[in-house]
Amino acid sequence: MSSLSPVRQTAILSAIAALLSVAFTGIIYLLFFGMDNRFWSAINMAFLIPWAITIPLGLYMSKQRFKLVQLTNRLREARTDLRQANKALEQRANFDGLTGLLSRDSFFSRMEALRVRNQSNVLMIVDVDHFKKINDNFGHPIGDEALILLGSVFRWILRTNDVVGRIGGEEFGIFLPDTSASEGQIIGEIIRHEIENTIFEPHHKMRHVITVSIGVTDIASHQDRAALMGNADTALFTAKRRGRNQVALFEPGMIAKPRPVHDRARDFKPFVAHSNFR
Ligand code: GH3
Ligand code: MG
Ligand code: MG
Repeated sequence: MSSLSPVRQTAILSAIAALLSVAFTGIIYLLFFGMDNRFWSAINMAFLIPWAITIPLGLYMSKQRFKLVQLTNRLREARTDLRQANKALEQRANFDGLTGLLSRDSFFSRMEALRVRNQSNVLMIVDVDHFKKINDNFGHPIGDEALILLGSVFRWILRTNDVVGRIGGEEFGIFLPDTSASEGQIIGEIIRHEIENTIFEPHHKMRHVITVSIGVTDIASHQDRAALMGNADTALFTAKRRGRNQVALFEPGMIAKPRPVHDRARDFKPFVAHSNFR
């Protein structure tokens, strides 16, 4: 019955009600009054009354049912929209919108989760050389294209369980699990070489060579993230100082990058003015 349309359901129910009403009225009438000239009018009434009740009732019910179906569909659509919005939010939080690589936070949380699984791991920071010049000479959108291209080079070179993220404007973090420092240096060299030889055309038939400097450090189990980043940054600074377009492996004693003035201000104790007046 439930597979029938509401109109058919109403018609069948009305017909059953009419038949029952006719049979019941007929029997009762004959029992109480016997066959007389008003018998057929009573039967007519008994036949028509159920229709008069069930048809409007059926119409009302099917209207309500239609509304319910509409409401259910709208709820289903809202649920799908919500699920898509959640997915988009998650995507925006975890991935960089431009390159599709991991965002800074996701990169570091993935690194923290993975570093405990292996004894030797490597962290590297890749920084584009003179990136400002790309923006200045060809415009910001072309600079964006260069970043997208670098993202695809990383994906192409790195292993599936390596982790790569965009940790700053033109800075990328790469975590290599189960990798020694010397292997990390070789992988860094492969990345550097591949980027230098990747064809980038800011304008039609105009080639621009993108180069990167890379700071590599191995990850000791006791080091916290700030210390690791400090080492990778120091190695990167060394690669920049040595003339860019090269890979440097962190060694103790390397000259660290001078911290910006606003950062160094934190080293000083806050100035407390003592008043001589009481
Ligand atoms: P260096 O070799 O010393 O690293 O020089 P650099 O010019 O790459 O260094 P700097 O850090 O001074 O410049 C980075 C520039 O990257 C500055 C900023 O305008 C640009 N940048 C940061 N994020 C984006 C981005 O999403 N798109 C584009 N097109 N440019 C960006
Ligand atoms: Mg930079
Ligand atoms: Mg740079």
